[in-house]
Amino acid sequence: MPIVPVHLQNNVLIIQVPSTYFYEFLEEHYVEELKRAIHQELGPDGRLEYSIVVDQGNSQNQPRTLNLPTTRKAAAPVAQATPAAALATGPMSSSARHVAGAAAAPAPSATTLRNPFEASKAIDRNYLHSQLNGSYTFENYIEGDCNRLARSAGLAVANKPGTTSFNPLMVYGGVGLGKTHLVQAIGNHIKASNSDKFVLYVSAEKFTNQFIESLRANAVQDFANFYLLVDILILDDVQFLSGKDKTQEMFFHIFNHLHQAGKQIVMTSDRPPRDLVGLEDRLLSRFKWGLTADLQSPDFETRMAIIQNKMQQDGIDIPPQVVEYLAHSVNTNVRELEGVLISLVAQSSLNRREIDLEMAKQALRHIIEEVEAEVNIDFIQKTCAEYFSVPLDLLKAKTRKKEVVTARQVAMYFAKEHTSHSLKSIGHHFGGRDHSTVIHSVQTVSDLIDSDKSFRGQIVELRKKFAGK
Ligand code: ADP
Ligand code: MG
Repeated sequence: MPIVPVHLQNNVLIIQVPSTYFYEFLEEHYVEELKRAIHQELGPDGRLEYSIVVDQGNSQNQPRTLNLPTTRKAAAPVAQATPAAALATGPMSSSARHVAGAAAAPAPSATTLRNPFEASKAIDRNYLHSQLNGSYTFENYIEGDCNRLARSAGLAVANKPGTTSFNPLMVYGGVGLGKTHLVQAIGNHIKASNSDKFVLYVSAEKFTNQFIESLRANAVQDFANFYLLVDILILDDVQFLSGKDKTQEMFFHIFNHLHQAGKQIVMTSDRPPRDLVGLEDRLLSRFKWGLTADLQSPDFETRMAIIQNKMQQDGIDIPPQVVEYLAHSVNTNVRELEGVLISLVAQSSLNRREIDLEMAKQALRHIIEEVEAEVNIDFIQKTCAEYFSVPLDLLKAKTRKKEVVTARQVAMYFAKEHTSHSLKSIGHHFGGRDHSTVIHSVQTVSDLIDSDKSFRGQIVELRKKFAGK
């Protein structure tokens, strides 16, 4: 069972969950129900705490856990950050140390340099925190065609930071495809093998905010000096720097300095460097010094492997046909896949019901609806305009040129077939025509399908474009 009650004392119920993701999920979807139940059973002072397994341990060790109170607002240091960043679980994680009741904060060292991650504390190199999430590793980063190059480049960098030609290493790909996981795995690997190296993971957004804060506090030099201490700098989501000239300038400076000193730089972006509009050319040209590798959507087999790995990691049991169904149906991205998995496990646990195909179909309903919703009028208009080689704006205008009329009628026909828009609304999207025009178009297309073989062929081709969505 993934949710285990572990402790009830002084009106505090502690439940153990297998991962931070699970905690997030419960807090997001079930917090009200849980609160109600706690109040009902334990009275108004009743509280809920989570014990999150951050490290499975081995057969001799208990899993290491991290305790958090319910409602993310109350968990102050965790509140603003993403779960991955906030629940940093490396051995240096201050929150984990705190929970474990270990030694107090380190004594400030002689230097008065400010650490942008902990505004009030002076830097002590021994206590520099990597901001890594220890659960992102290479071991649980499933390899597939979609990520082979990026993964092996990442592994090479992790084994020999700063000395391969993959410097900088730039990983790009769409959301939820595993960029953050991969670059954190690099960081964790280096930390595990070279404990004296200062690895720092930071999102470009956090970097920007720290920089702005340092400007405000008149401490830009401290900011720069801090970053110059880093041996392996991992900057996540660099596209965030677009249009932020001052921050880019600072990063450029840090980049050059680190690179020259043989330090490793790893970056991610949600698009290829050539599409990073608003990033200075001199910065972009630096990215080309090393290796740029992309992440693609995983294929079916890789999705199966990812689900199976996740099940094993979290101790979840799901019938094979359900796993297969999930791998077939959720082909958007890995985060979505994990989301569905977690929601199934949570439902099964809370409703005391085994996971079955019916439940999986139910859980997938909203995702599939989202995908279907992508066949909207815009998409249909664009596809038809392209297919018939007519300009999109003419398709939506009043012109009566023959080629345009046909393309427009076909687009209306598909809008009626694939969307839930009323005839009136469809007319509105095609230059403000009335519903009788739409009816007429649909009728004309239907008639042509019956009478004209080559036209019918065109419709079949077009329909494929919408069905595949
Ligand atoms: P991105 O940063 O590209 O948006 P993430 O790195 O946050 O994506 O990945 C989303 C989720 O998918 C994470 O929980 C991650 O662990 C998981 N994931 C992505 N790719 C893989 C993979 N190849 N193997 C296992 N888990 C993966
Ligand atoms: Mg990310």
